[in-house]
Amino acid sequence: MDDGRIVNLYDFAPWGENPSHLLLHRDAAIENPPQGPRILEKPSEMRWNPTLAQWTVYAAHRMNRPQLPSRDSCPLCPGILELPMPYQIAIFENRAPAMSFVPGEMERPDTTNLFEFKSPARGRCDIVVYSPQHDEKFAFMPLENIYALVEAWRDRYREIIAQSDIEFVSIFENKGREAGMTLDHPHGQIYAFPFLPPDLEKQWAQTQAFWDGKRGLWEKILEKELRDGSRIIAQTDGFLAAMPFYARYPFEVHIWAKRAGVSSLLEMTPQERRELAGIMKNVALRYERLWPDAAYGFPTLMLMQQLSKQAGAERYRFHIEFLPLQRSPEKMKYRASIESGAGTFLADFLPEEQAAELGAVEPKEVELPELLFD
Ligand SMILES: [Zn+2]
Repeated sequence: MDDGRIVNLYDFAPWGENPSHLLLHRDAAIENPPQGPRILEKPSEMRWNPTLAQWTVYAAHRMNRPQLPSRDSCPLCPGILELPMPYQIAIFENRAPAMSFVPGEMERPDTTNLFEFKSPARGRCDIVVYSPQHDEKFAFMPLENIYALVEAWRDRYREIIAQSDIEFVSIFENKGREAGMTLDHPHGQIYAFPFLPPDLEKQWAQTQAFWDGKRGLWEKILEKELRDGSRIIAQTDGFLAAMPFYARYPFEVHIWAKRAGVSSLLEMTPQERRELAGIMKNVALRYERLWPDAAYGFPTLMLMQQLSKQAGAERYRFHIEFLPLQRSPEKMKYRASIESGAGTFLADFLPEEQAAELGAVEPKEVELPELLFD
């Protein structure tokens, strides 16, 4: 891009054949190679909260980003602003990122500066455009396209997590305006952090605490969910989708990799990647069909939880968390005082009951895409 950002384009075609528009871009990229990561004149800032021992990222300039522009001026549609070229899947750095590449080493707070410690917000924020079609929805995308998206996520994850200053990479989506989505075009995001965010830090500590040398936290969770069975939504050989025993959000579904050692997208076999596409679509379709006429359209947060950088990361287990923000056809779920200020969730449902309701929604079977990659 003119401002130094790099666009990664993904397409699918018969094995070994490249679509002609991708060849054009490849030639242009060879002629005019990227000059390394973009360096912002004024990166965002992070401040240390000594009461919770965690960072807050201040991205004040993001107040000016486009809010729900009209369909004709959608910056993600082909040929409008960010993506002048034809594309199938496009991944590129956010124009106004909350975190960005900053040369040099990251400083950590110590006892001498704990109470007013700040740092440039290092990291990376990418936009993942799922489809060139403005009105497409993830749940209704052809299965092959979701499979290609899994491959694109994996390719970006591999490249970003390999960077020496990055500790953790989050692939996520805020679906629906009530979930904070500011562009209607189907897209998700990738945030790369120079530290482990608090919830992941806790999960990692629990993973280590339960490890007995062979098995641990995730084996126990999967074993209990499989044996009990009452919260299962769908499964394949490689993945289990269920409402966890400890769900905090209404209709909260997690998709866990069943195989030990799969701590990120990188360890998955081609067969497992097909299954992941199939089971993600299955869960997303059930959400769309649960209350088809509901107000709000079932806004949902989706996060892929994966670790690669920690010593012993293979003890962790890749999983996806779907966190819906709607608790009935007319009512939204809000994080209220106790949840926001004290961190304890109050749920007005039981996971078993909601799992039975969601489990009765079509499609009952997980469909798998054709094997396109090896
Ligand atoms: Zn669009």
